[in-house]
Amino acid sequence: MTLDDILVELKNAKTIVILTHESPDGDAISSSLSVMHALAQFGKNADVVIPEHAKDFDFLPGADQILNNGKEEQYDLAISVDCTDLKRLAGGKEFFETAKKTVEIDHHSVNAMFADYNYVDPVSPSCCQVLIAMFEYYGVEITKEIANCILTGMITDTGGFQWGGVTPETFEFAAELIRKGAKIKEICRKALRNKTKAHCKLERLVYDRLEFYENDKIAISYITIEDNQNTGAKLGDEEGLTEMLRDIEGVEVAVLLKEKEGKNGYKASLRSHETINVSEICLLLGGGGHPGAAGCFIPGTLEQAKAKILDAIKHAINK
Ligand code: 5GP
Ligand code: MN
Repeated sequence: MTLDDILVELKNAKTIVILTHESPDGDAISSSLSVMHALAQFGKNADVVIPEHAKDFDFLPGADQILNNGKEEQYDLAISVDCTDLKRLAGGKEFFETAKKTVEIDHHSVNAMFADYNYVDPVSPSCCQVLIAMFEYYGVEITKEIANCILTGMITDTGGFQWGGVTPETFEFAAELIRKGAKIKEICRKALRNKTKAHCKLERLVYDRLEFYENDKIAISYITIEDNQNTGAKLGDEEGLTEMLRDIEGVEVAVLLKEKEGKNGYKASLRSHETINVSEICLLLGGGGHPGAAGCFIPGTLEQAKAKILDAIKHAINK
């Protein structure tokens, strides 16, 4: 079974690198650190390589050990967490490609199964929740550090237990993590509710530019590179803006187009109430994600990106 095969690889490897997806969110960072803490219990000192991350997550136990780059030319084992495909493993991709053995742990239903061993639970609302099952199977002790990391991933990927995929088990796991020392109040404040001033300025711009289509079922807005410069926005400051548009009455699909530095195009973030599957829409445009939260990159000008994404969404709504 995959979990047993993975355990053999974990035990055999002398050098291990843990990688995750580009623009890492709370679940990506928390999953990486949880695996690092768990491996320490096997006497393994794994490197977590994340080139850039939002400072909101610096409170996580072990965040000070995150490396911007790998230390080895070739690792014995590379572990990818919370990532759908190799293309999304930005930054640490070369360490994955050169590793002697590869493992991936994920919860996206559109997963490319790109590792030697793929442990993917497509119904889990967060990668961190997948890890709990793995850790239980391996007899990993849920320490205070691991509990805080895992609960952070569960909370950020479910918008505070509000979004799709949350089940009674999610709350049962959460209760156990709190018993083990996870600080839910601190996690919610730091990883979920905290807003920078730059974020507030972006909120204002996003509302100013908001447009509705298809009888107000589609809400769309955008952020340019210049906006990020003018507001002083940093990585993570855009977090939550698309959800904000989804919450508007009558909106079925919310879109935020974000101009990408040096890429001549826009990253589209889509959110829905899952009645419209935005992952399917993004998959058609070379991206992916979950039924209620997905993304893709669209090359071209703002007008071109807008026309392309609106066309794809209208098609899905009127299907
Ligand atoms: P966000 O809009 O926050 O960037 O991403 C929402 C969800 O869609 C996340 O689960 C993320 O992993 C996924 N996602 C975003 N962009 C892409 C993409 O270009 N390709 C794939 N496969 N998934 C994406
Ligand atoms: Mn996730």
